[in-house]
Amino acid sequence: MDRYSKRKRSEVMSAVKSKGTKLENKFKLGLDVRGIKGYKQNCMEIYGHPDFVFKKAKLAIFLDSCFWHGCSKHLRMPSIHQDYWELKIERNRKRDRAVSKELRSKGWRVIRIWEHSLNNPKTLQWWLTRIKNLKTQA
Ligand SMILES: [Zn+2]
Repeated sequence: MDRYSKRKRSEVMSAVKSKGTKLENKFKLGLDVRGIKGYKQNCMEIYGHPDFVFKKAKLAIFLDSCFWHGCSKHLRMPSIHQDYWELKIERNRKRDRAVSKELRSKGWRVIRIWEHSLNNPKTLQWWLTRIKNLKTQA
């Protein structure tokens, strides 16, 4: 592995990370604007590390990027190293399902929101309303 490809790889990784942060910020802003309170962000002590958690309501929220979680509508496989990406994304999908199952078995309600839903103002509002309702049903 030469130096260039190492640097390139870390560039790609930080771009992916900042995209994830952008999704979280967008969602957080939505919650704040709607006055939805009592959440915890990046909950490390809950299994699977949900992006947002309402502990009292036992509501776990994951924001799934269309690429990393293999959205059937928007996933565009990179043209090189396809086997590698396919394997990686398939592994992510499996882990997502396992995490949701495990949390549900412990009485959590699990919500997974696609990146494309967050990018659409209408579906984002729909999710925020749903979360507000689920939160008060606890
Ligand atoms: Zn998508």
